[in-house]
Amino acid sequence: MKPKLLVVSGPSGVGKGTLLKRVFAESGFPLMMSVSATTRKPRPGEINGVHYQFLSEKEFETKRNAGEFLECFEVFGQGTWYGTLRCTVEQGLAAGNWVVLEIDVKGACAVKKQAPDAVLLFIEPKNIDVLKERLLGRGTETEDAMRRRLATALEELQHAHEFEHRIINDDLEVAVKQFIDIIKSKT
Ligand code: 5GP
Repeated sequence: MKPKLLVVSGPSGVGKGTLLKRVFAESGFPLMMSVSATTRKPRPGEINGVHYQFLSEKEFETKRNAGEFLECFEVFGQGTWYGTLRCTVEQGLAAGNWVVLEIDVKGACAVKKQAPDAVLLFIEPKNIDVLKERLLGRGTETEDAMRRRLATALEELQHAHEFEHRIINDDLEVAVKQFIDIIKSKT
């Protein structure tokens, strides 16, 4: 069974984290989360090397110029960079893992160009109101950052049709099953 790259996108607040936790626990596949690099400051409780590799702008730029990223983008249009390190993905696949990237839509399309057999999944909310509620309820962002996230989320939803697989995260049980069925169909 050749391990594959799974690229998961969807707007902030759609519940990708919760869904992935369940899929990791229940799929029976050797899944590995790719740890991205970012110039964003850690939120309380976030650990360097676990949630992200937190880099300074200078460090990020050096890696970008050296071509160390499979893809990288300024995600919220405010100088905050996020990127997938080639070495993380390559090491994961070489070890026999299915490597999961949780990245934005632009990043997903960039990965697909370089790795055409990557499997792209888009996670959608039932509707926009549910998404707004989740984003507001999170309370970890300033109002300005929140507004940018919501604007980005609405924009990301416009790209859902570009994805090979779409999952509506309304009933978590159904979404988990759908996700696992998609992975199984790729073996
Ligand atoms: P957060 O700041 O909430 O952790 O993540 C914000 C957004 O950045 C998420 O929507 C996530 O998909 C995206 N993101 C995280 N890591 C990467 C990455 O390596 N590349 C790209 N293109 N987007 C990423």
